Amino acid sequence: MSFVTEITAPDGYKVKVNTGLFINNEFVAGANTIDTINPATGKVLTSVQAADAERVDMAVEAAHKAFYGGWKTSSPRERARLMLKLAELVERDIEDLAHLETLDNGKPLSNSRGGDVPGVAKQLRYFAGFCDKLHGKVIETEGKLSYTVHEPIGVCGGIIPWNGPMLMLAWKIAPALCTANTVVIKTSELTPLSALKIAELIKEAGFPPGVVNIITGYGPIAGEALSRHMKVSKLAFTGSIATGRAIMKAAAETNLKKVTLELGGKSPNIIFDDVENLDEVVFWSRLGVYANAGQVCCAGTRIYVQEGIYDKFIEKFKALALSGKVGDPFDPETFQGPQISEAQFNRIMGYIDIGKKEGATCYLGGKRVGDAGYFIEPTIFTDVSPQARIMKEEIFGPVVAISKFKNADDVIAQANDTTYGLAASVFTSNITRAVTVSNALEAGSVWVNCYNLITENSPFGGYKQSGIGRENSEYALANYTQIKAIKINIGNPL
Ligand code: NAD
Ligand code: MN
Repeated sequence: MSFVTEITAPDGYKVKVNTGLFINNEFVAGANTIDTINPATGKVLTSVQAADAERVDMAVEAAHKAFYGGWKTSSPRERARLMLKLAELVERDIEDLAHLETLDNGKPLSNSRGGDVPGVAKQLRYFAGFCDKLHGKVIETEGKLSYTVHEPIGVCGGIIPWNGPMLMLAWKIAPALCTANTVVIKTSELTPLSALKIAELIKEAGFPPGVVNIITGYGPIAGEALSRHMKVSKLAFTGSIATGRAIMKAAAETNLKKVTLELGGKSPNIIFDDVENLDEVVFWSRLGVYANAGQVCCAGTRIYVQEGIYDKFIEKFKALALSGKVGDPFDPETFQGPQISEAQFNRIMGYIDIGKKEGATCYLGGKRVGDAGYFIEPTIFTDVSPQARIMKEEIFGPVVAISKFKNADDVIAQANDTTYGLAASVFTSNITRAVTVSNALEAGSVWVNCYNLITENSPFGGYKQSGIGRENSEYALANYTQIKAIKINIGNPL
């Protein structure tokens, strides 16, 4: 049975994708199907095969067999060759991948083309370089030889979200594969398509069957089964705090699989009045809030502006926010596409309502755009009390709270008054201030005079409840390897 379907995008581009479950290098039938929606129209794009616990087990068994059947001891050069080949194929099929991502997720085509697809290739190439650079240490132990080897863990599960489906897939598979693990990825039921296209390319690149398995399914069914599976030795998750907790609990109740989590945030963006170019500050700050329609885990949704430039800042910020077109993600002029789903749309509109009821000023936006799809105006709240829910909770939409501060001590205290700690930023022309404030901020990433600068060679992850572990960079390798100490008696009787 063939699960290939063809979708025509609004720009006339036709793209084919296999909608089966990708297990053991074959596309197979699921237990049932899930419709995936185009969030720009609210209409069904296509339906995909969905996994139940039994299919999850099939995928894990395939990965388990592939691990012990040769991948575990595979040549580092061969792994690098396959990963580099996959990167090439991703670039070759950039139009297919970018169109699928935009159809399924709603992000502007220019973003899919310019950011997400190239990001996948960069991630694969960066980690391919590590395949033959996984070194242990030699430890001096009084006449004995002691050394360490970094070994793969086994079957690594990945549960990924819908806000950057293709990129999150790459963040999970690249560090796992270079360290000789095999993987089972569960994509979000809201955005399965781009990962399925990449599954085709994985097969074409020549990865042995079972090394990478990609399945779609509902969180509480397929996600739960993966997080409880006794043969999954490590699980990486990106998504909400509630689901992160459920996954840790599932791991605790089963085989104590190693869990890494990336759980979003409520990141502060601090702007001092000594900044030289306010237009540049406004440019980065707006990107920090409204990129990907606000559906970004590290979004800078609490903006703190020093008194002296507050009025000027909000005026310029509002003007730039208003200049961005909200609408059809296939229109090259569009800056902001739709929210992912009706549920997320309602959740965000709910927060806008809460903000107003709590007494904050809705300075800009707050309304739906159009009558089809899930579009929301870029929204600004001012006069938000530090304890307000819209100041504390992740909204995951195009909504920002802007407040005024007096001095560095005052703003650092406010910035750190959160259970999150994924990212933060500081804008200042004073180098001493940049360094002291960066040091004081409790966050896994701090940007100075920029925002959202995420690269494959720099670590990304959370302080506090924003997560456990780091993705990207050499630091990520620690999550996919276990260290063995080998001690050899070299003839010393003692
Ligand atoms: P979610 O955490 O429920 O979904 C993320 C992934 O987890 C999906 O693949 C989903 O199928 C899976 N999942 C859901 N329940 C599961 C379970 N019990 N066991 C295993 N896997 C499960 O997120 P959501 O409901 O789509 O969004 C809600 C909120 O989460 C958003 O408003 C936002 O605040 C946050 N979020 C954060 C990120 C991020 O990048 N950190 C991404 C998406 C959502
Ligand atoms: Mn979709």
